[in-house]
Amino acid sequence: MLKLDNISVYYGAIHALKGISVEVKEGEIVTLIGANGAGKSTTLRTISGLLKPRAGQILFEGKNIAGLPAQDIVKMGISQVPEGRRIFANMTVLENLELGAYTRKDSAGIAADLEKVFARFPRLAERRSQIAGTLSGGEQQMLAIGRALMSRPRLLLLDEPSMGLAPLLVKEIFAIIKEINASGTTILLVEQNAHMALSIAHQAYVLETGRITLAGKAADLAQSEAVRKAYLGG
Ligand code: ATP
Repeated sequence: MLKLDNISVYYGAIHALKGISVEVKEGEIVTLIGANGAGKSTTLRTISGLLKPRAGQILFEGKNIAGLPAQDIVKMGISQVPEGRRIFANMTVLENLELGAYTRKDSAGIAADLEKVFARFPRLAERRSQIAGTLSGGEQQMLAIGRALMSRPRLLLLDEPSMGLAPLLVKEIFAIIKEINASGTTILLVEQNAHMALSIAHQAYVLETGRITLAGKAADLAQSEAVRKAYLGG
C-alpha cells in the first residue's frame, strides 16, 4: 500500500532522514520505533506532505506522492494524528470532528462517520459540546484520532499516541488502535513506547539518527537482543 524508497529529508543543512526505505502492506499495523530525535516524526510529516523529501520516492498504491500538497494526500486516503494531538482548543468536540472532514463534500457520509466516531468513543459523544481544550489528555488523544478518522483514511499515521498518558489510558488507546486496524484501516504507528508498539504491530522498523537499523516482524524484534537492550529496558 505504502512504500518509502530511499527517502532523504533535510531541515536546512541538517540531514534528518538519510535514505530510509519502509513498506506498509494493506491491513497491517507497522511501527517505527526509535529514540528522541531519530527522525520518526519527520518520516510521518514527509508522508503526509508537510515536508518535501530532497530525494527518494513515496509510493501510495503505486503513485508517487512525494511533494504533493498535504490536502491532496488527505484526499487520497492518508490521514495523520500529529504528535501532541494539536486539537483546536477553543472549539467544541463536534467542531473539531467536523473539521476532520474538511476535504469531503458528501454530507450524508460525513454524518454517518460522525456517528461511527461517537460509537467508538462514547466519551466524546457525551462531551460533543465541550470546549476541546478542557478535555483530559486521554480524551484529547481520542479526539485527535476521531478527527483523523473523519477524513475516512485507508492509511492512518499515528505520532506518539501514548505521549503523556497514564499507563491505563495508554492501554485503552492501544486497544482502540487495534480495533481501528481490525475494522480495515492500515496503520503506521510512531512510538517511543516500544514495548506497547511492538505488542500490537505486525511489522516494525528501528530508526536511529535518520537511518533504519533493524526491520522485521514486530514479534521477532521484541525478542531481539539489540532491541531489548536499547528500547525495552534490558
Ligand atoms: P521525538 O520522539 O523527540 O519527536 P523523532 O524521532 O520524532 O523524535 P524528529 O522530530 O523527526 O525526531 O527529528 C529528527 C531530527 O531533525 C532531530 O535531530 C531534530 O532536531 C531535527 N529537526 C526536527 N524538526 C526540525 C526543524 N523544524 N528544524 C530543524 N531541525 C529539525
